[in-house]
Parts: sequence; C-alpha cells; structure tokens
Amino acid sequence: MASAMDVPQATGSQGEFRDKLVAEGLLIPSSVAGVTGQGPAFVDLRQRLDARISKLVADEGAVAMEFPPIEPRHDMESVGYLTSFPQLAGSVFAFHGEDAEALALGEQAHAHQDWSGHLQSAGIVMVPAACHPVYPALARQQVPPDGITIDTGPAWVFRHEPSDDPSRLVAFHMRELVRAGPADTVGAWRDAWRDRALQFLQSLGLPAVFDEANDPFFGRSGKVLARSQRAQKLKFEILVPVGGDHPTAVASFNAHGDHFASVFGLGPVHTACLGFGMERCVLALLFTHGTDVSQWPADVLAELS
Ligand code: AMP
Ligand code: ZN
Repeated sequence: MASAMDVPQATGSQGEFRDKLVAEGLLIPSSVAGVTGQGPAFVDLRQRLDARISKLVADEGAVAMEFPPIEPRHDMESVGYLTSFPQLAGSVFAFHGEDAEALALGEQAHAHQDWSGHLQSAGIVMVPAACHPVYPALARQQVPPDGITIDTGPAWVFRHEPSDDPSRLVAFHMRELVRAGPADTVGAWRDAWRDRALQFLQSLGLPAVFDEANDPFFGRSGKVLARSQRAQKLKFEILVPVGGDHPTAVASFNAHGDHFASVFGLGPVHTACLGFGMERCVLALLFTHGTDVSQWPADVLAELS
C-alpha cells in the first residue's frame, strides 16, 4: 500500500507553481496528495475550455454519452486493465456485515485505524479513462457500417498515482472522443484529430508539440508492452510545459486495433480515442500566460470567451 513516503514530491519550479496556485485560491489542497479541489477561477477556466472544445468537435457529428465515475468490475477485468495497470486501479469496497461488525468498524474508523478488513467488493471499480464505459455501451447497439463517434463530455476519472505535482492528480476530468469504425479509417481519424488538437492548443498560445508515447504498463513485462506500443505508434501525446522539468502530456491519441471491439463483441471494427486532460490543459494555460487571467493575451481570451 502506498504511504506518504511514496508520494513523489513536486520539486523546484513545479513546487513553486503549486504553492502559487494554492495561495491564489486556484487550487484547494486536501490532506491526501493528488486529491485536489478547484477554486472558482480554475473552475471557470475549465468550463470555458470545455465549451471551446465543444465548438471544436461540433462538426464531428459525435453522439453524446455520459457515465458515472464508476463502472462494473467485470468490464475492467475483461479489458485486462488489472494486468496492465494494477497500480493505477481503484476499487469500491462496501460494508455487508451485521450489527456487531458495524460497531467494530465504527470504532476503528473513529480511531483512524485500518477498518478495510470489514469491507467486501461492491462489484464496482473507479473509471480510469472516460472512454472505458463507452465500449460495453456500444455492444448494446449496432455500430453503423461507416462508424460512430462518441463524445464523453468532461468525465471524472480516477488513477491511483498520488503526487505533489499539481498536474498529477488522483481524480481529474478527461474529455474524450471515441471512434469505432472500419479498420482502415480509424487510424486516419486519430491522426487527423492529433493534428487538429495540436493546432487548437497552439491557438491558445501554448508551446505545444506532439510526440510518440507509451502507457505506464506495470512491472517487467510492462516494459515489453510499452516498447511494442511505441514501435507500433499506437499512442501520441501533446506535450506542454506545466512547471516541471519536462513537458507534460495534456492530451493523448490512442489506437486500440480490435482490442475493445473483440472484448465486447462490437463486430468487425477497430477503435481509437483521444482525450484532453482538462486540468492539465488549464494548468498549462496558467503556467504559460500567468495566474492573472485578466492579463492574458487578447487573442487567447477571445478564443475562450
Ligand atoms: P492517458 O489515457 O493516460 O493518455 O490520459 C489521457 C490524458 O489525461 C493525458 O493526456 C493527460 O492530459 C491526462 N492525465 C493522465 N493522467 C493524469 C493525472 N494523473 N492527473 C491529471 N491528468 C492526467
Ligand atoms: Zn480513451
């Protein structure tokens, strides 16, 4: 189990940036690293950015689907998430006992002792990416022969990677577009959106670049998976400096081949998705243009008006 000792500390300019955001009320820290609230100015920026992304995707003909930040445990098991990313997964456990055990649980909880032994799986896990609930939902309808695009809206997602870095959160908003369609069209769709999103983020004055990337697959065998993902160019990221030593991924573009389609029986289609990390996009704007939004360049403010 992770302890406070394991939490990576934000260093140098990243730590300074976090302290400034907290001091100015943009971020609201809690007693747990990565569980961070957002003050009014931050919420306003995130919502303006979300509205601007809605304009960007308006001609995509995307179907809206929204899901809660929890999903059936069975679905996460089926896609292999607990093999690839056990370190990131969150699982919901609930109390199913009787009076005597409830009393013991309550006493332990009151004393801040470990009461987790009284819980059992509720059959539910935390959604780790906004696109995950979309695939089983598509299995309940027919994917049209020329494909379908789904817009998840700004969905809350969970990843257990506690950190002091303001851009590495345990819960955050991800806005995804998901495409399911003929295999020979989905890759081009992903690449076109990568270029479009890059242009969009640059139009907000961000020094954005894109690069090939890999997911943080767990363990020794994960290194092989990561290399293979890179070699096949299955993942691209758009990177922007957000206070740390290296540019940070603010958006990702993934090709899944027939992985999700075969797990959920979607027919002879491939899938791809793109996701904006909404908090990271806002942090990139604040880092690039400063925390006083009234002083931002007029063209950036116009884009977000
Ligand atoms: P991924 O599915 O890992 O490519 O994540 C999609 C996007 O979510 C990334 O491009 C980031 O912008 C954002 N993101 C991923 N992990 C985190 C995190 N721990 N905290 C905040 N944003 C994140
Ligand atoms: Zn996705």
